Amino acid sequence: MLDELKQEVCQANRDLLAAGLVVGTSGNVSGRDPESDLVVIKPSGVAFDLLRPEDMSVVDLHGNIVGGPHKPSVDTASHLYVYRERPDIRGVVHTHSPYATTFALRGEPVPVLTTTHACLFGGPIPISGYAVIGGEEIGRQIVEHVGDGTSVLLRSHGVFTIGTDARRALRAAEYTEECAQAAHLAMLRGYVEALPADVVSAAREWYLTDYGQRPVGAGA
Ligand SMILES: [Zn+2]
Repeated sequence: MLDELKQEVCQANRDLLAAGLVVGTSGNVSGRDPESDLVVIKPSGVAFDLLRPEDMSVVDLHGNIVGGPHKPSVDTASHLYVYRERPDIRGVVHTHSPYATTFALRGEPVPVLTTTHACLFGGPIPISGYAVIGGEEIGRQIVEHVGDGTSVLLRSHGVFTIGTDARRALRAAEYTEECAQAAHLAMLRGYVEALPADVVSAAREWYLTDYGQRPVGAGA
């Protein structure tokens, strides 16, 4: 059941570790099957480098466990909240990637300082309110603050990204960290002016229409 999605979600979870976005067992990736609406998600407390596709947890949109040998991630209820509220989304990623998390701890959005940021996100990466862990409150904060973007900083916690599949959500998490790192390091040396809104819009438009072999956005 859902073999392809388990493979994809397992690999995306392992890639979080390889990309340096997570340590230990913190962070997680999930993916939604569009046919059945079942969600494949990382099991709770299992090391990323030991994950196999058959270890993935499978739940329905209301949190009932449908498959997998382990308890699903503690963030499952929040992933499911996002999937219920956003039928267009089929991938959710959560990290505590260090540079982006410094913005989350300070309650500051990541400003648009680089052309990469403008192209990939089209605006500042927003900051949510504080949410307790374990229920769906985190999911509420994501949906409320992510807007039509693909990345949101969770206040005092870390990063959530969304996409039309797990790979695209993972890519948004990677670029969130890259943009936050560049912004943080530049701002250490003094004031840095953010790119003007019209320049950001033009860069985003160019990226969506002209970039690459088959134009896609960070979460498109
Ligand atoms: Zn977390």
